[in-house]
Amino acid sequence: MNTPVSPGSVLVADRLLIPGQPSIVCHAAQAVTGDLHRRGITPVSGPVRVPDDTDRDRPPPLSFTAVLPGTGGQVGLGLSATAHDPDGHAIAATTLATWLAVVRPRTLLLASPRSFCAGVERAIEIVERLLDQRNGPIYVRKEIVHNAHVIAGLRATGAVFVDELDTVPDGATVVFSAHGVSPAVRAEAARRGLEVIDATCPLVTKVHTEARRFAERGDTVVLIGHAGHEEVEGTLGEAPEHTVLVENVDDVANLVVQDPQRVSYLTQTTLAVDDTTEVIEALRTRFPALRGPGTADICYATTNRQDALKAIAGEADLVLVIGSMNSSNSQRLVELAHRAGTPAHLINDASNIRPEWLADAGVIALTAGASAPAHLVESVITTLGGLGPVTVVERATSTETMRFTLPITVRQP
Ligand code: SF4
Repeated sequence: MNTPVSPGSVLVADRLLIPGQPSIVCHAAQAVTGDLHRRGITPVSGPVRVPDDTDRDRPPPLSFTAVLPGTGGQVGLGLSATAHDPDGHAIAATTLATWLAVVRPRTLLLASPRSFCAGVERAIEIVERLLDQRNGPIYVRKEIVHNAHVIAGLRATGAVFVDELDTVPDGATVVFSAHGVSPAVRAEAARRGLEVIDATCPLVTKVHTEARRFAERGDTVVLIGHAGHEEVEGTLGEAPEHTVLVENVDDVANLVVQDPQRVSYLTQTTLAVDDTTEVIEALRTRFPALRGPGTADICYATTNRQDALKAIAGEADLVLVIGSMNSSNSQRLVELAHRAGTPAHLINDASNIRPEWLADAGVIALTAGASAPAHLVESVITTLGGLGPVTVVERATSTETMRFTLPITVRQP
């Protein structure tokens, strides 16, 4: 008996039950479910029984199933609808046909490094340790890192995410996110008697220190970055009277500075290396005495993930980048793939994979932004393996050994 399903909806098989045989796992179920959600249908998930002769004398649920060759054996695809439900019947039949049409053997080129960087690991560990060590609520200003799965996981274990400090009770414990905060936010926390645990990535802190140093020597500080990004707002706040933001080469052309001989620049840590080099060159053309850190403010993790994807993007028919929409370094990876001439999509997880991307994609390059957990990469590989056999080829362009120490407050077990 299949799980009951409402008329007009469908049951997506997580495994196929074939009488007298071991069940067959449907690895692509998450992608099929996501496809239905995008079409405004709310499916349920569960095993689907493949009809046999014993169903002859009763109206069985309408099941649509297929058994396919997978990576290590057979995999299934299946949907079912309630008996006497023509709408559910049509949805199940067309959905199965859509996904069957993209079944094929594939090669997955796996970029390395990918997924978490040292700053993200540190920030998440700070919140996890505080949740373990303290009884009271742990407030986190802004998303600790830009990933929806990470935020949902920490929220489920008790973290309270707030946009600004005014919703944090006086005297409470608050964590500043990996993207950093401006001095004004620190001052407000001190005034309110908040216990601050700072999860700002040390590489962001380095940029803040440069901002203060450059401003103190009397320079106009040109910050290359994206308006509205939390990291940029924090860095701008270090020397707001002396800092101007530019996003691209056009902004450089319109820049007005007090003394063209005294101009320095900084960059957001998660920019595209190639674009940033162009902006720096434009700045140097306008201000030959320009001083700055090269592209060295762009952090090692951003640079390494871009290099790793650059090495494989041109060989692939499709690039999938795992990361959240508000993840800057993940967005830059998608842009990099586009520049290589390969269609690319940012996906939060396997449920965002669309069948229309896959029909011609025999080679898929897969990577994950610095804030995307590694288990999401595994899940995408498994899902694609539910649509035909996959051969995974990992291409490493560098090895990362960076680790950042935790703040003393949370170091105790
Ligand atoms: S992406 Fe770079 S700057 Fe951002 S947290 Fe990771 S290491 Fe730090």
